[in-house]
Amino acid sequence: MNPLAQSLMFAIAAAFANVVGGLIVTSSKWAKRSLRYFIALGSGFMLGTVFMEMFPESIALTKSAPVLVLLGYVIVHMFEHTFAPHLHFGEETHHDELENPVVGISALVGMIVHTFFDGVAIGAGFLVSPSVGLLIFLAVLLHKIPDGFTISSIILTSGHSSKSALAAATALGVSTFAGVLAVHLIGGSLSYALPISTGSTLYVAATDLMPEVNREKGAKMALVVFAGMGLFLLVRSIASV
Ligand SMILES: [Zn+2]
Ligand SMILES: [Zn+2]
Repeated sequence: MNPLAQSLMFAIAAAFANVVGGLIVTSSKWAKRSLRYFIALGSGFMLGTVFMEMFPESIALTKSAPVLVLLGYVIVHMFEHTFAPHLHFGEETHHDELENPVVGISALVGMIVHTFFDGVAIGAGFLVSPSVGLLIFLAVLLHKIPDGFTISSIILTSGHSSKSALAAATALGVSTFAGVLAVHLIGGSLSYALPISTGSTLYVAATDLMPEVNREKGAKMALVVFAGMGLFLLVRSIASV
C-alpha cells in the first residue's frame, strides 16, 4: 500500500473520532468523565512521539527544522488563542463569557487550523515510514475525541444548535483529511510538513492538553500522562521490530 492510501485510511479513523467527540457532548455522563483519560493518555503519547520521533526525523530532513518547529507552535497559538478570545479543552462551563456566538465561530476557526495540522502530521509520518506514520496516527487519534468534544461544547454554549455543534465536530474531521491530502498533493512538502506539524503537535500536547491534566486534583491524572508515554514506548518497540 502506498503512503497516500495508508494516510487516508488512518485519517478516516482520526476524522471519525472527531465526530464521536461531538456526539458525546449531548450524551452520558460516563462518556464525558472518561474524556479526561484520553486527554492525559493522549498528551503523554503525543509528547513521546514529538520528542522521540518527529523532532529527530525533522532534524534529519532539513537544517531549517528548529525554526519550522517554532513556526508550527506559533501558528496554532495564533489561531487558537490570539484570534479566538475563548478556547480551552474539555467541557465548556463559562456561560457568561460565551454569550456572543462569534466566540464560538472563532474557536471553531482555531480548531480547524489545529486539526488541519493533525492531518499534516499523519500524512508526513507515512511519507517517512509506515512505523513513524502509525505512531503519529495513534498520537493524533488519542486526542481526537477531546478535540471533537471541545468544539461541540463551545458551539453549544455560545448559543448555537446541537446540529451546529455536531457539524463543527465533523468540520474538524474534514479539516484533518484536508491536511493529509495537502501533504501528499504538494510535491516535496515533507521537509516543511513534518517540522511544522511537530511544532503544532507539541502545542496541542503541552499547551492545550497538559493544563487540563494539571487542573485535576491528586496525582492520578498526572500518572496517566506517564502511562501515555509508556504506551508510546511499548508501541514503538513493537513497531520497529
Ligand atoms: Zn470556558
Ligand atoms: Zn487535534
